[in-house]
Amino acid sequence: GFKCGIVGLPNVGKSTLFNALTRTAAAQAANFPFCTIEPNVGEVAVPDERLDRLAAIAGSKQTIPTRLTFVDIAGLVKGASKGEGLGNQFLANIREVDAIAHVLRCFEDDDITHVEGRVDPVADAETIETELMLADLESIERRLQGLVRRIKGGDKEAREQERLLLAAKAALEEGRPARTVEVSAEDARIWAGLQLLTTKPVLYVCNVDEGSAGEGNAQSARVAEMAAAQGAGHVVISAAIEEEIAQLPDDERAEFLTDLGLEEPGLDRLIRAGYELLGLVTYFTVGPKEARAWTIRDGTLAPQAAGVIHGDFERGFIRAETVAFDDFIACNGEAGARDAGKLRAEGKSYRVADGDVLHFLFNT
Ligand code: GDP
Repeated sequence: GFKCGIVGLPNVGKSTLFNALTRTAAAQAANFPFCTIEPNVGEVAVPDERLDRLAAIAGSKQTIPTRLTFVDIAGLVKGASKGEGLGNQFLANIREVDAIAHVLRCFEDDDITHVEGRVDPVADAETIETELMLADLESIERRLQGLVRRIKGGDKEAREQERLLLAAKAALEEGRPARTVEVSAEDARIWAGLQLLTTKPVLYVCNVDEGSAGEGNAQSARVAEMAAAQGAGHVVISAAIEEEIAQLPDDERAEFLTDLGLEEPGLDRLIRAGYELLGLVTYFTVGPKEARAWTIRDGTLAPQAAGVIHGDFERGFIRAETVAFDDFIACNGEAGARDAGKLRAEGKSYRVADGDVLHFLFNT
């Protein structure tokens, strides 16, 4: 599955947020229980109202949402790249995630110590980014040395790696994260294989005080500005409120949200933002037994999309009967879509679109 790492300085609200995420009713949906893989790894259901609408039309007995994995990566402090705090272990954990949700303290609370003694989320973001950039520089140096022998031996791939490592190094030495390097389509595979920390997409999570959960506050506004300048995403959330919401029974939740002037839990926005950040899209399979959502990377072709369900579907792929979500709703289901000529037969080169309702035909 796809993984989003939660990072941030100590005491910014990472654990509070992670606990809320993994305790929420959506995560514990009866037929898809939240599962704790390790204490700091949790799978959450991706909220998607389209699934319920499809199930209602098709009379599906149950709905199965798709999931996203969050990893609580504690232990980042200034100096982590030099082995301070949990240092190296922390960096190794980040290497394994597909995207980074960076929690920033935007709430004032004199009882809760800030490691730097002041609330300044933009400076905090820079502190962490600097550690990640230093860690990248160090691993680049190490890898460049490791390539010397292979390049001498005429290894072409090693030479390509060296070229890209040097491009990343140049950016980092100018104080820019590696994600600012423009990479051609041909280089994309090797570039991704370098697994640099500062190439991972970032979502800033502004943890605001309870009173600012709707509109945000002055600090979160500064973060929003910074995120926009970097082309990064941001969400405003109050971890403390989310923790309360997560503990409420379903029927009390709506009222609690209304009282706070909120339309939905901030966590739903966070999960969706994480999903978008990862470049993920959803397709559906719908039948009398269940309506189910599946996750693929945007751009995935039909056979590989089928492979998410089962390897046999991919190996024996013949075609995918496809109805777009809007057509499925407008035609009141698959039969109606067929009659209206909205059911398409798509082949191996079909790029699955977000919201497609698919039925795979395959050889066994
Ligand atoms: P972590 O070190 O980043 O995992 O931070 P924690 O989640 O353990 O939070 C540190 C402290 O800040 C705890 O005492 C939390 O209860 C408190 N805290 C977290 N979020 C909020 C918030 O939105 N408002 C307030 N006032 N306190 C919070």
